[in-house]
Amino acid sequence: MSVLVLVEHTDGNIKKKSFEAVQYAAEIAKQTNTTATALVLGTIADNELESLGNYGAQKVLHVADDRLNDLHARAYVSALIAAAQKEGSKIIVMLHDINGKAVAPRVAIKLKAGMVAGALSYPDLAKGFVIKKAVYSGKAFAFVNITSDVKVITVMANSFPLVQGDGKAAVEKLNVTFGDKDFGIKVKEVNKVTGEVSLADAELVVSGGRGMKGPENWGLIEDLAKELGAATACSRPVADAGWRPHHEHVGQTGGTIRPNLYIAVGISGAIQHLAGVNGSKVIVVINKDPEAPFFKAANYGVVGDALEILPRLTEAVKKFKA
Ligand code: FAD
Repeated sequence: MSVLVLVEHTDGNIKKKSFEAVQYAAEIAKQTNTTATALVLGTIADNELESLGNYGAQKVLHVADDRLNDLHARAYVSALIAAAQKEGSKIIVMLHDINGKAVAPRVAIKLKAGMVAGALSYPDLAKGFVIKKAVYSGKAFAFVNITSDVKVITVMANSFPLVQGDGKAAVEKLNVTFGDKDFGIKVKEVNKVTGEVSLADAELVVSGGRGMKGPENWGLIEDLAKELGAATACSRPVADAGWRPHHEHVGQTGGTIRPNLYIAVGISGAIQHLAGVNGSKVIVVINKDPEAPFFKAANYGVVGDALEILPRLTEAVKKFKA
């Protein structure tokens, strides 16, 4: 009856946000008097798997099939269902990211489970199994009660502060018999993002919009990001115009990020942009138009020309660090 949680890794290194998913599953396990079991797919060392005990997993099931190093949604579903059957799991947790969004609904359909996508709270068991999630691009919240026997939850990253313990999980190999169709998609090429800081995991993000005027000014964004140890992001028109690569585009049709600090430079603050960033803990907006809508969502705002403000801000950060 263990709570099952799918853990992701990159080249054998567990993603920080997966620790959050494990902690989330462990908290539900605690509240429901059971244990948390992590499922890890692909090539990864045992000591990395054991470290999941630090976040509350008692057991780790490892499917050591190197084909699972790339996302094969159907194979992931087969592995999750095999693990859920083995553990008798009625609650399955994964991240609300590209993998989770591809896998969770398929698992929910196969197991006839109710599902909450993008959980922002632990289930309120006093009211049933009620979970808070954002709707309408973060403009409102819904409180969803999952009444089915089996429950699938995808968890929004950066929503639950991570507390590291000192547990060590027991690692067990799990053999899964995959069907012909499980690997029906062939991954031909993987383009790795080689930025200094990965945007998905970044605590600090400096982001530019059309107000930056052109790609020739992006050095100003990068200089500030470098001084802060931040990742860089951009609005959609900036990526569409080819000023920046598409993997940096955040918003409704781009990535969703929840950093501790989001600095938006020359971005108007359209609802489609806010959808990807309004979970940030602190938002700083730099815009020359005092009426720019982004100021309404900002904790701090600077009205002025970004091309003048950015070099001064970078200098100030340098001096502060010295
Ligand atoms: P603009 O709206 O042109 O704003 C530029 C801002 O820069 C202005 O506020 C201006 O005052 C300021 N500025 C200009 N010069 C300076 C200067 N020198 N110094 C400081 N500030 C300056 N957008 C996204 O970002 N992400 C999405 O995922 C996304 N998805 C979409 C999905 C749909 C279905 C649709 C219809 C739209 C989507 N959009 C998305 C587009 C979105 O509606 C906005 O058009 C877009 O976010 C605007 O980008 P921007 O703020 O960079 O540009």
